[in-house]
Amino acid sequence: MAAELGYLWPWSLALISALALAMVALALLARHRGLARARALRALEQAVRGLAEGEYAPRWLPLTRRDQVGKVAAALQETAAELGRQTTSLAAEKGRLALVLANMTSGVLFLDRRGRVVLTNRAARRLLELQGSPGGRHHLEVTRNVELSEAIDRVLQSGRPEEVEIEMIHPPGRVLQCHLAPGVEETTRPDGEDAGLVVVLHDISELRRLARVRAELVASVSHELKTPVTAIKGFAETLLEGSLEDPARAREFVGIIDREAGRLAHLIRDLLELSKLESGQIELKLQSVDLRQVARAVAQKSRPPAERAGLRLLEELPPEPVLALADQERVEQVLHNLVENSLRYTPSGGQVVIRVSGGEAPLLAVSDTGIGIAREDLSRVFERFYRADRARSRKLGGSGLGLAIVKHIVEALGGKVWAESEPGHGSTFYVKLPSAFTKT
Ligand code: ADP
Repeated sequence: MAAELGYLWPWSLALISALALAMVALALLARHRGLARARALRALEQAVRGLAEGEYAPRWLPLTRRDQVGKVAAALQETAAELGRQTTSLAAEKGRLALVLANMTSGVLFLDRRGRVVLTNRAARRLLELQGSPGGRHHLEVTRNVELSEAIDRVLQSGRPEEVEIEMIHPPGRVLQCHLAPGVEETTRPDGEDAGLVVVLHDISELRRLARVRAELVASVSHELKTPVTAIKGFAETLLEGSLEDPARAREFVGIIDREAGRLAHLIRDLLELSKLESGQIELKLQSVDLRQVARAVAQKSRPPAERAGLRLLEELPPEPVLALADQERVEQVLHNLVENSLRYTPSGGQVVIRVSGGEAPLLAVSDTGIGIAREDLSRVFERFYRADRARSRKLGGSGLGLAIVKHIVEALGGKVWAESEPGHGSTFYVKLPSAFTKT
């Protein structure tokens, strides 16, 4: 028996050793698996943290595992990729919106529910003359306009859109049309922070100015037409009521009617001319024009009326040509208007000089020894219907449009016109024109 046992002993020893080895191997394997799983879970944790920080392509995901951890890793990778795509498209959309806002000529202001500025575009900051970023400030502080601020408060209260027109104090004369629209539900965050309103500002100063100018023009034209028409009608009625029988009076009255009708025709001609110039209907024939030739032509035409008015008309011209790039006929019209004015506003015995000088900047000048123009009127005589001496202008048949026409033509030719004067001693009108030699 003992011998049998002695025989079995090495076998059992080998079995026990094998079992022990297997157990150690199993323990090692389990430990290894546990470690690998822990590592995989750590990688998952890191990927989730990375996702929160905008890392949409996690690198160490345990995708090869076939257990639950591997499935979670695959789902996480898919979610991360989708989040990445959505974030890129949102960023692109945000970029496009920012580009549109930045390049809009209309101003845009976004306000939150409490009326604090959330966002402004460049145009809004320019129109409201804002320095720095107005973010977080109350709307009254930003708009500095009570009317607009009251409208903002109303829209925040009522939730109904409104439109107001405001005139700014700074800069003076700026008129803004403001559309106020309440925040819409779709753009509202769950906390309601964005549900304020949007204000869109349009600069309509130029439109309003033009409307005012048009109204003033209609009033001036009606006023200018009224005087001659009233005179014509009055004298015609007097004639019909019996003065026709008195040949001397009849002649005198018909003379007045004729003069007033002439004034009317002059006014209408000038008005039509100005309207054509302003609407750009006149085509300029630009060519090289010798200003001495223009001066000679105008002087020749104006000499007879100058003599009739008892005035001397002189020309001071250089020996060499003075070449301007201009429209000959239009420059003649300008010079003729200026000479006509000098003849009109210079008392008998005086003189009018047409001067031409040149070189780089061709210059025409008309000087007279007339009544002159007061300093405060000097810059305004180029406005339509502006007359420094209304009674004299009217008496002498002026339309009040001559210098406005001159200014239009000169500016259309790319030149400049201005006047200098000493009241009681005379005036000089200058016209500078582009040289025919200037390279463009
Ligand atoms: P008008 O038909 O009344 O002359 P203009 O437009 O030609 O109109 O001139 C505007 C005003 O400028 C005139 O009414 C006049 O008061 C003043 N003015 C123009 N030219 C002269 C001048 N050479 N001397 C004095 N005043 C002038």
